[in-house]
Amino acid sequence: MARKPSFDYNLIVIGSGAAGSPAASIAAQAGKKVAVIESDIFGGESPNWGDIPVKALLHATQLYDEAKQGSRFGIRSTALGYNFMSFKAWKDVAIKRTGAGNNRKYYEKQGIDTYHSLAHFLSPHEVSISRQTLSAEQFLIATGSSWTIPSIVGLDQTPYYTPKTILNVTRPPKSLLIIGGGSNSVEFAQLFAILGTKVYIAEKASRLLPSEDQEAGELIARTLTEDKGVTVLTQSRILSVQKDGLAKRVTYTRGGVEKSVRVDEILVTAGRTPAVDIGLENATVAYTPSGIEVDDYLQTSAHHIFAAGDVLGSKKYLHTALLESRIAANNLLHKQKAKPDYTAMPNITFTFPGVASVGMNEDDCHRRDLDINKSLAPLNMTARSNTSDFRDGFVKLISDKKGVILGATIVAPHAGEMIHELALAVKYNMTSTELANTPHAFLSWSEAIRIAASRL
Ligand SMILES: Cc1cc2nc3c(=O)[nH]c(=O)nc-3n(C[C@H](O)[C@H](O)[C@H](O)COP(=O)(O)OP(=O)(O)OC[C@H]3O[C@@H](n4cnc5c(N)ncnc54)[C@H](O)[C@@H]3O)c2cc1C
Repeated sequence: MARKPSFDYNLIVIGSGAAGSPAASIAAQAGKKVAVIESDIFGGESPNWGDIPVKALLHATQLYDEAKQGSRFGIRSTALGYNFMSFKAWKDVAIKRTGAGNNRKYYEKQGIDTYHSLAHFLSPHEVSISRQTLSAEQFLIATGSSWTIPSIVGLDQTPYYTPKTILNVTRPPKSLLIIGGGSNSVEFAQLFAILGTKVYIAEKASRLLPSEDQEAGELIARTLTEDKGVTVLTQSRILSVQKDGLAKRVTYTRGGVEKSVRVDEILVTAGRTPAVDIGLENATVAYTPSGIEVDDYLQTSAHHIFAAGDVLGSKKYLHTALLESRIAANNLLHKQKAKPDYTAMPNITFTFPGVASVGMNEDDCHRRDLDINKSLAPLNMTARSNTSDFRDGFVKLISDKKGVILGATIVAPHAGEMIHELALAVKYNMTSTELANTPHAFLSWSEAIRIAASRL
């Protein structure tokens, strides 16, 4: 009888971010011999150079901004100032508190072996790491993604930042041009504009936040322009960049007219490229430059190899990566396989006001030729709008003709919290009548949800 091949590990997880971490822990708890390989800082993007540092800085800067505008509430704010290095120190405290940054010990405490190295497949069951070969019965690829660097003339010879590096600045730049107008771009635009940076955003689509509902992108553009002096250059294509003394000159076309602007710094936030350059051919794992190909169960073309998180190239959110990691762990360990359910994944932009959406937006429904009803409740219809002196923003609901909620978009001070009620509605096929008949506490922003639902 042929002997079962022996491997160094039952499971090797490549990448220690949100898509790798839960699966490694679940497998270790199930008694499997597990290793995690990480080429950068353990913990991956979210705690080290992504969500957590940026949200900690946004919280501090938005607080500063609100206090500056506090005279209307009776707050004396003439002597208010900030210290950028103290903001950064706060960010470091926030990262430390999560315990998720630089967390190699977290794995080791669970009996998981860790390797700090770049992993590369040599064969379907072997990876090389710094002059060593490791073998495993099964693998989870959770290598994430990096920022796409657009092919713009001169960009390779001009210093620029990405969201991964811009947090290293020791003072806010005097001026900053952000290439890309998505969620990360507008968060950075607001953050630096509050700190006094003159910000430009160049986006090739006709609005900011192109994957959100039109009204949301337009409102955020208006807020950034009118309140923060940001110059929003939608429908713009960057042609070239070049050094101009200590600054940079950026040339772009807008409405058929060529223009240029001189800025101190450039930030590139124009999409993500999945990290697929890990010898996938040697492992017989099918992939494209847009990501690793998996079936509904997150299984790749090599049946003992699963993949999860940003490396799949589809939804790039932390909560998606976590969900996929748990599902992949189940499917690696058990015969009874599960599928990730993406129907009610919230999308959030943490500007002030925030933008949050779930399910389908109007563009999605038009693309699918769906017959829909929609309603929009401006936030200023709620009493809370008066007591907080905040009048912009809205709740928009979309339903099918029977009233079943298909999607929602919120622009509001606490949009990221309010959206979960609507995520439940989308996930469990609730109707607008059910939402409208649910009591919503007086003086909450969520009253706007009830108003939008009753209008449907
Ligand atoms: C500025 C910013 C803000 C964000 N804000 C939010 C937010 O508010 N909410 C949200 O849901 N999402 C947010 N995201 C997205 C979120 O961070 C990602 O979706 C999530 O972290 C992806 O997890 P992952 O495990 O797939 O990838 P990662 O966390 O990137 O982990 C992949 C790891 O694999 C390692 N690796 C790559 N190749 C190899 C190799 N060959 N060998 C060994 N190791 C390798 C990498 O070094 C990395 O540590 C934000 C992202 C950024 C950049």
